[in-house]
Amino acid sequence: MALALRGTLLSPHAAGGTLFEADGLLLVDAEGTIRYAGPFRAAKYRGPVDDVRPNLITPGFIDAHAHFPQTRIIGCATGPLLDWLANSVFPEEARFTRAAYAKTVAAELVGRLAQAGTTTVALFSSSSPSATATCFSALAEAGLRGIVGLTWMERLGPPALRITTKAAVAASERLIRRWHGFDHDRLRFAVTPRFALSCSRSMLRAAGDLAGAHDLPVQTHIAENDHEGVATLKAHPYASSYLDVYDQAGLLGPRTILAHAIHLTRRDFNRIGETDSTIAHCPDSNFFLGSGRMRLKPPLSLGIRVGLGSDVAAGRSFSMRRAMASAYDNALAVGHPVALPELLRLATFGGAEVLGCAATTGSLEVGKEADVVVVPQRRATPTLDAALAGLIFDTDETHVARCYVRGRRLV
Ligand SMILES: [Zn+2]
Repeated sequence: MALALRGTLLSPHAAGGTLFEADGLLLVDAEGTIRYAGPFRAAKYRGPVDDVRPNLITPGFIDAHAHFPQTRIIGCATGPLLDWLANSVFPEEARFTRAAYAKTVAAELVGRLAQAGTTTVALFSSSSPSATATCFSALAEAGLRGIVGLTWMERLGPPALRITTKAAVAASERLIRRWHGFDHDRLRFAVTPRFALSCSRSMLRAAGDLAGAHDLPVQTHIAENDHEGVATLKAHPYASSYLDVYDQAGLLGPRTILAHAIHLTRRDFNRIGETDSTIAHCPDSNFFLGSGRMRLKPPLSLGIRVGLGSDVAAGRSFSMRRAMASAYDNALAVGHPVALPELLRLATFGGAEVLGCAATTGSLEVGKEADVVVVPQRRATPTLDAALAGLIFDTDETHVARCYVRGRRLV
């Protein structure tokens, strides 16, 4: 075996439930595929073992929503949303037309993701095609898995950030040819209209057409903030709701990731369910910008796939452990507490379902690619509850120690 890790295994099962082995073994072959995940004793494995006890071995975290060009502006407390975009985000994102700057920040980004134990990420780039290519290159080189999109926006923001539909389509097609499906689908291109307010109806339609033509993931924001919702219906008066703007543009479907989904009606959630679209829940961002509280119960009760997003830089950390803790707080605040195994599921397998890679990653199961993190644990013989509590809440001094994608350790 190329990798044999002995430690406490903790992972959601794809079929439901949680794998927990206080003394477990994970075996990974030379292709990076998991060949065994279970009790150490039952494996009867005689080869050399990398003993990381008492540490936890979990699936790599999956961040279902973050912004590459906001890496350096974490903590800019200039919210709410539309003010924060104008004051902090747009001026920073406009810098990414400078190749050297984009390259420096992309290197910081991949370092921070790996440090946080994030092995798969859904990223918005800026509207700069060259910065988007730089982001892809950095992920490719670092060994991370993810989807990346050129951010389409022809309205709002300084002129340097605006891109016409024609230019956005042409640049996206070039990026698709170069990067979509890279390294056996480790990287994919996502059609990424920033949000309805930054796009005309025709731009949104072109985005829907492009996604349909190439069978691409789509990612965008929806119903993050009350004022944004009102302004959206003003800008798109033909639509019956915020969701309907995307629906009419052909942007809903099984490969669509809708970030936030806070101010939606039951009818909206029904429509998201009907179209099999997915949701990235970004609680830390929602706290920071005062956007509101998303309720997990309506989408989960409808069987809608939900993952967790850091939403850096409105989220204050790349750590999905922090995102899980925020999701816990948010669920308490809306009166529907969420159990700890469900939080781990949202930050791993749930994210894989949202990004369309659940057959490949998101859990420690035989036949899957070995995207794995090792996280220090304080107690040598933990229970499931103690292991989950430590992973999600006890993060002061227990940073992720190691991070692997397809069994290959990231530097
Ligand atoms: Zn966002």
